[in-house]
Amino acid sequence: MKYPTVRNYVAGQFVDGDEPRSLDVFSPLSGAVISTVPLSGAAALDKAVAAAKAAFPAWSAIPIKERVQVFYRYKTLLEKHIQELTQLVHDENGKTMDEARAEVEKAIELTEFACSLPQLVSGELLEVSKGVECRAERKPLGVVASIAPFNFPNMVPHWTIPNAIALGNCMILKPSEQVPVSATRIAELLQEAGLPDGVFNVVNGDKEIVEAICDHPDIQAVSFVGSTKIAKVVYRRATSNLKRCVALGGAKNHLLVLPDAHTEMTASNVAASMSGCAGQRCMAGSAMVAVGSVDHIIDKLVEEARKIVPGQNLGSVISREAKDRIERYITEAEAAGAKVLLDGRHAVVAGQEAGYYVGPTVVDYVTPDMAIAREEVFGPVLAIIRTKTLDEALAIENASNYGNAAAVFTQSGAHARYVMEHASAGMIGVNIGVPVPREPFSFGGWNESKFGTADITGKSSIEFWTQIKKVTTKWNPESRVNWMS
Ligand code: NAD
Repeated sequence: MKYPTVRNYVAGQFVDGDEPRSLDVFSPLSGAVISTVPLSGAAALDKAVAAAKAAFPAWSAIPIKERVQVFYRYKTLLEKHIQELTQLVHDENGKTMDEARAEVEKAIELTEFACSLPQLVSGELLEVSKGVECRAERKPLGVVASIAPFNFPNMVPHWTIPNAIALGNCMILKPSEQVPVSATRIAELLQEAGLPDGVFNVVNGDKEIVEAICDHPDIQAVSFVGSTKIAKVVYRRATSNLKRCVALGGAKNHLLVLPDAHTEMTASNVAASMSGCAGQRCMAGSAMVAVGSVDHIIDKLVEEARKIVPGQNLGSVISREAKDRIERYITEAEAAGAKVLLDGRHAVVAGQEAGYYVGPTVVDYVTPDMAIAREEVFGPVLAIIRTKTLDEALAIENASNYGNAAAVFTQSGAHARYVMEHASAGMIGVNIGVPVPREPFSFGGWNESKFGTADITGKSSIEFWTQIKKVTTKWNPESRVNWMS
């Protein structure tokens, strides 16, 4: 599969930049070059911001009930083109077709939520003293930016596009340079849905354009999703330029498995959590904390994981470097005394020998100090850490510098409640290995998995994408004047 050269999208047009730098885009499934992406700089960003700024007065003046009509039409277009959008994600990211389809389905749900925003932002009004009314209205911020990672080329841009734009903002999207192709189709479909030119723009690039976004004086807010290392850089730089910023980072999610957990349900859930999207999910359960005697569950889990086969129901990882990094974690843990129960190193898929595959891997007797236990591996690898008590397990979870998700597997309501209370993570699962909150609930972690106050989706994102205007009015001259009127 070959796709045309990726171009920036500015003021409703696909434009060639004058960028001196570009990058080949590889399909991780086969290692083949499928496109090229320009690495834009500050000049390209200036044009996109100017387009967004010009579009803002008219777009923000349209009542929200009318603005969301674009997203009703857009949702229908996403549904109509789901197969093609799925194929795109599969080709550029390497996840399976089923996983790619699920990602587009989630994008549809996110769009659906944006259509409900008029119901959620109706404002407030109160007669605060005789004849005097205060009202509070939510207003958009202006030009905003959204910076995306490689692991969800379609879904993560939809964490921000529908809500930010439906709420009246104009947006600059900066896709991951590793998976920039899906964004082209997103732009085309938004245009077909009737979004006015300039309301949505795409600039492609790497570090240089991200820094330019953080520095641009006409960008009011920046949302970022990616690794913790870069989330910190972006959050610091954007906020030091006095912008709003929400920056989601990496994760190390702990799955606490108790002896009374349902064997089959736990085993299949844990196997799916660690290996789904080849482990390249910020919600992947990558550390299982085995509390007490759970060997029967581990045996079943390994049996389940064996059914996950690269090239069949397991996609590729994003790059050769990612494959090498993941395999290095396994090798180092083994050298430090951990026991590899299922080994996915050196996986090769027939006919796709140059693709970047790692098979499902289960490593037992990992100790909390090992890198595989502490760091984000971002591959289909489960590190099992053994503890005697639930408190010890929680201490390990609490010690992580991340805090995206944590889950407990048990049939005891009391133990589940205890973990809900004491886990230090923003999203908690009970007998659910990937506890992604669905709309209208919001998505966002704690600790170094998120910087900034609002979550990135759901009701919480309304705070992020709007500011409140408070208006106090009095029309009746016969009302007496008091201290506040
Ligand atoms: P990344 O941090 O390498 O890249 C993310 C974005 O930052 C990309 O658009 C990239 O171009 C840009 N970037 C890269 N290096 C930069 C630099 N030095 N300065 C400025 N910008 C830079 O992340 P990735 O590898 O694309 O994505 C995987 C990571 O994203 C994982 O850590 C994963 O956990 C995380 N992630 C988190 C969530 C969440 O909700 N918390 C969701 C998805 C992915």
